[in-house]
Amino acid sequence: MREGIKRMPKESLTNFTSTGEKLLCWLDTLSIMQKTHLPTPINLQISPTNKCNLNCSFCSVANRDKKLEIPFHHLLAFVQNMCTMNTLKAVEITGGGEPTLYPQIEQLIQWLDSQGFSIGLITNGLELTDNIERKYLDLLSWIRISTNTLQDRGRIQIPRFKKGKGPLLGFSYVYSEITEDTYKFFAELEYLAKKNKASYIRIVPNCLMDINNLEEKIKPLKAIYQESFLFQDKRPRRPNYCYLAYVKPYLYTDGWVYPCNSVSLFQGSNREFPEDTRIFHMSQAAEWTETPFKTVCLMPSEHLACQQCRFARQNELLYNILKNDFIHKEHI
Ligand code: SF4
Repeated sequence: MREGIKRMPKESLTNFTSTGEKLLCWLDTLSIMQKTHLPTPINLQISPTNKCNLNCSFCSVANRDKKLEIPFHHLLAFVQNMCTMNTLKAVEITGGGEPTLYPQIEQLIQWLDSQGFSIGLITNGLELTDNIERKYLDLLSWIRISTNTLQDRGRIQIPRFKKGKGPLLGFSYVYSEITEDTYKFFAELEYLAKKNKASYIRIVPNCLMDINNLEEKIKPLKAIYQESFLFQDKRPRRPNYCYLAYVKPYLYTDGWVYPCNSVSLFQGSNREFPEDTRIFHMSQAAEWTETPFKTVCLMPSEHLACQQCRFARQNELLYNILKNDFIHKEHI
């Protein structure tokens, strides 16, 4: 094996990214959902701020209001209101903007920890240790550093944690084209991950581009790095139904809850979250969690955004759990 970070077993993808299998760890929760048809969130994703310290050309929410932020007390009230069924286990703090720029990021982490949630943080890392003191970083379950700005990678602040202590560290990279620089970048990324004892490096194609073409171009790099990087194909496809928000709602900085964080990624979204994919406003969270859903579809999955769905597998699993009307179901 070439010298790199530790060899990646195939099942690592399931551990470090959302593939659907982890839903099956929460059979009690799914059973409640099956019986009651009530939303039963297990995992929340929240984008507390639209501010960012970068201005990436490929940003999927480039046209957002860059000053927008969720008031801290509104955020806490929202999370509390999403807990009515006591099924919520985890909160992921992500973008929108760069979450480490949220003025109350440390208080938010501390409060979420005090409520017993497992907390994940997705960041570009540029102000990670400047803005989050070590004692708060230690409360996180995992940190994923997006390394998409090649020119800024030397400025990424990477905390060092003692073996077996502190959050699990991972890196991610979304590729749009393969150039000579990509070869150099992958070598550096591998070095960086090894030096910082990262658990994984996830490489995914830019779903807005021609994925077949991209995957063909990445093949030589894949051959070199397949032992130490996780290459996720992430082929988007449209599911027939959408239930994801019932178990993993996404709160965007505009105060609205969306069925997933992918709906800004489709070509027609104008790099914002389309209004017609909103589910409810954060101020209506208590009401939403207490109202049984009547229809099988959360939102019409014929929406153009859903052509690029990254969660088709999760939605199909949820559909089958809710439908629960198989014939001869004992014959597994
Ligand atoms: S892309 Fe569409 S179908 Fe897929 S999870 Fe998001 S809203 Fe649902």
